[in-house]
Amino acid sequence: MTNSLLILPGDGIGPEVMAEVTRIIDWFGDKRGIKFDVTEDLVGGCAYDKHGTPLHDDTMAKAQEVDAVLLGAVGGPKYDKLDFSVKPERGLLRLRKEMDLFSNLRPAQCFDALADFSSLKKDVVAGLDIMIIRELTSGVYFGEPRGIFEEGNERVGINTQRYTESEIDRVARSAFDLAMKRGKKLCSMEKANVMESGILWREVVTEVGKDYPEVELTHMYADAGAMQLTRWPKQFDVIVTDNLFGDLLSDLAAMLTGSLGMLPSASLGAPMENGRPKALYEPVHGSAPDIAGQGKANPCACILSFAMALRYSFDLGDEATRLEQAVNSVLAEGIRTADLLNEEGVTPATTVEMGDAVLKALDASL
Ligand code: NAD
Repeated sequence: MTNSLLILPGDGIGPEVMAEVTRIIDWFGDKRGIKFDVTEDLVGGCAYDKHGTPLHDDTMAKAQEVDAVLLGAVGGPKYDKLDFSVKPERGLLRLRKEMDLFSNLRPAQCFDALADFSSLKKDVVAGLDIMIIRELTSGVYFGEPRGIFEEGNERVGINTQRYTESEIDRVARSAFDLAMKRGKKLCSMEKANVMESGILWREVVTEVGKDYPEVELTHMYADAGAMQLTRWPKQFDVIVTDNLFGDLLSDLAAMLTGSLGMLPSASLGAPMENGRPKALYEPVHGSAPDIAGQGKANPCACILSFAMALRYSFDLGDEATRLEQAVNSVLAEGIRTADLLNEEGVTPATTVEMGDAVLKALDASL
């Protein structure tokens, strides 16, 4: 089977961090014989500059065909005044919507060398490795009715939390599948104590769980879950939750581990004909206009997003681990970009130097 990959570097630091990933993709071809059929295209502000739209229809069509899309970042001050319909972020939202990426995977993994970076005590986060799965295409951000309406002599703002059984079923299945590949523990979070959608969520997840007898399923109210994530996050393996709670809990969990420059993500949809899921991989961070073009960006979030692609799209879990361990060993050597340094007098590595170091560590892994 061929491995097709669409690369969309985007704006700001996107092209800088993606250039390092491209070198790593070439390394896998040269040194491991794992070839990727790579095409590159525009998304965000740069696509608007060329085509007058943040995502050209041809790019959208390509994204639907490939095994995985890898995106850098979009946006920047140059585009802030554009009409909402053509803002760079609309390109990203169109990809997520038309590819129907309902399952958003956000790992919170603490690299040993960065345990001091967390705002929590070192022993609480050292060795942390959890995965939060957030439902991405339904729930209160999409439910109707929504809007600001007149009611009597005042206005009322309305959003509707709405989930169908099938929407819960499919994201629950993706969470159970993932738990099977990890520690076989899944915690589902909702507010079944005060929300009917939460009651349905719990019922459906429990029902799906009967198909996965090896996975230990627990349920937690989302507010208690937030407390437990800061108290003792290592009690969790995989967490599945809805769009709104997932938005909050995944940011909370991600920050347990330190810098935005280290955080990858994946958004997965239904399986395609070849059995691989529709998939978009991207770092959590934005285009960082404050440091763009200066060689200061940390490429690790984008590199680790590619590692997620190796694992979840190309079924190359061992190679994904090889790449993650290479990043870990670079950090352990003390090589850091500026965002990972909190001491004076240490010269930070540039984006390219960080890429060089990861390549060297990959060589050493052979
Ligand atoms: P940001 O993530 O771009 O930057 C926040 C801070 O983190 C900045 O100080 C930045 O320098 C730093 N930072 C981010 N990534 C880094 C990296 N890899 N290495 C080192 N430092 C890093 O968020 P923002 O400043 O709120 O937004 C900037 C632009 O990015 C806006 O136009 C926003 O709309 C867009 N944005 C895009 C995405 C995306 O493409 N997925 C996500 C968030 C924001």
